[in-house]
Amino acid sequence: MSTANCLPQLVIGSLGGTVCMQVESAGEGVTPSLSGEALLASLPQLQGLARISAETLQLLPSASLTFIQLLEVLQWADTQVTQGAHGVVLTQGTDTLEEVAYFLDLLWPHDVPLVLTGAMRSADQAGADGPANLLAAVQVALAAESHGRGALVVINDQVHAALNVRKADSLALEAFTSSHLGPEGLLIEGRVCYLKAPRLRCTLPVPQRLDHRVALLEASLSADTVLLEEVAGLGYEGLVIAGFGAGHVSRDWARCLGQISLRLPVVIATRAGAGTTASRTYGFKGGEVDLQRRGARMAGFLCPRKCRVLLWVLIGCGMEGELERQLQVQGLAHSLNS
Ligand code: GLU
Repeated sequence: MSTANCLPQLVIGSLGGTVCMQVESAGEGVTPSLSGEALLASLPQLQGLARISAETLQLLPSASLTFIQLLEVLQWADTQVTQGAHGVVLTQGTDTLEEVAYFLDLLWPHDVPLVLTGAMRSADQAGADGPANLLAAVQVALAAESHGRGALVVINDQVHAALNVRKADSLALEAFTSSHLGPEGLLIEGRVCYLKAPRLRCTLPVPQRLDHRVALLEASLSADTVLLEEVAGLGYEGLVIAGFGAGHVSRDWARCLGQISLRLPVVIATRAGAGTTASRTYGFKGGEVDLQRRGARMAGFLCPRKCRVLLWVLIGCGMEGELERQLQVQGLAHSLNS
């Protein structure tokens, strides 16, 4: 048997993003143009690590990815594992990396690692970080210690859990953090060094319904209730609020949310960027005690965007009744009565 045949099998699925962007016409800015195959060809050292193939699944800025496309990506990745892949790497834009990773993590049933990566600098920029991130992602995906950890984000020599990772800087090279808990691991001399034991995972079934919509609205100072009042009438089946501080809204919003939660699930997360919602501290109208009495659920540590992903998946598999328990497990949320 040749040495190449002894190597593990790994696949790279490319979805687009800055990692594959370059200037196509002068003065027009960078756009996604490099295929997955071209990304792979740009890093010949990968070939010594595994039998690697690459496929271009999408060529999009990550803001334009949809849940339906992600379910297709999930299906593709699942097929690769069934056909013997020892690891799957996805490259995509960093703008929605945290949401995509969390979405796939909720649904990834395998122990085989699913690793997402991207880049903050485009492929034709000096000091482009895409090749280094891709190499690191492959190294993590091939490591035995990465098994059973669900979807991981590998970027800037750090490994982040999909549940905790967040883009915290718009353009900096060090754009990603896992606040409070820190990264799961680090890349040191080409090897992954985990700082934490794998978390007990409990995945959800693949959504069968795809036509439902979940709204996400952010509370802001002196905001009116015009949009909020329309949410249920417009056919949304779930609502997430990025609330002030520990999960608060104005008294007018609280009144509206009480009405809405009679018709659909309402989750209150914090817009603060880190930290958790409270459950039993503030007693004013629009505070978390009042909102829970009006039927809303508190998100705990789960950020507004990931709450929306969770609610969309739960509704899609007819498991809305699981919302409170999932928030307790995923967001470590407490409720007034717990
Ligand atoms: N900064 C983003 C990226 O790193 C822009 C484009 C995108 O998210 O696709 O890829």
